[in-house]
Amino acid sequence: MELELAGKRALVIGASRGLGAAIARELSVEGAHVAGVSRSISGGAEWPMLACDLGATDAAETIAEFARNELGGVDILVNNSGGPPPSSALDTGAQQLLDAARPMLFTLIELTRLVLPAMREAGFGRILTITSSGVRGPIPGLAMSNTIRAALHGWMKTLAKEVAADGVTVNLLMPGQIDTDRLRSLHQLTAERLGIAPETMTAKAAEAIPTGRFGDPREFAAVAAFLASPRASYVTGLEIPIDGGLLRS
Ligand code: NAD
Repeated sequence: MELELAGKRALVIGASRGLGAAIARELSVEGAHVAGVSRSISGGAEWPMLACDLGATDAAETIAEFARNELGGVDILVNNSGGPPPSSALDTGAQQLLDAARPMLFTLIELTRLVLPAMREAGFGRILTITSSGVRGPIPGLAMSNTIRAALHGWMKTLAKEVAADGVTVNLLMPGQIDTDRLRSLHQLTAERLGIAPETMTAKAAEAIPTGRFGDPREFAAVAAFLASPRASYVTGLEIPIDGGLLRS
């Protein structure tokens, strides 16, 4: 299938590694002009990168201006962020949620609002937001992630209906266990907490997935590239697990 991504302008958040980098690479291979954002940049990126902390109060404006300068506008926005540290629900109060919501929720909402007017005027736009399978099946010990991401789904799904008639689609991608730095460090923490070897932890986690293995970031990026493309014009408001069958419903 020809994805018709050539020349499309894609802004990818969290593009320095993991899922964001895999999506940026896939879009770039398909001919899109890509610009990325991450907390820090180490050099050698394959596309223009901005170092910007999503937790900064002016992050959305700074990123939108970077996209205007680098790309001349945004046809495809990939919302992504770092995951918050583990915590139980009992240990997660209003202040912790507010702090984590700035980078993971408020900045992504503000950024989306900034790029939308031009998308609607052009009659084309793709908003993809990476969250977690924890939105549907809350992950024990990740209360902040489970809570804030559910809020992000609420906003994005409401938006999807508001802009559907303008050629703008809004979809949510829920990774299960995709093999990235973040996944490895979470498994390391869990292994320490349980007092078991990291390899035992990794093997147990993989066994719990129907495919019997973690996902490859490229498998995740392939779904994203299709949804970001003009060919996915009749798919909007969806919450899509990319999880090797992990979620039961
Ligand atoms: P990762 O840690 O490998 O990469 C995160 C990216 O976000 C990096 O580019 C990093 O620079 C950027 N980032 C982090 N904090 C930032 C900040 N404050 N400001 C700007 N940029 C920031 O993570 P990943 O595995 O690629 O996952 C991406 C997202 O998906 C995370 O939110 C993660 O929690 C979520 N997720 C991942 C999995 C998985 O299987 N990998 C599962 C569920 C949820």
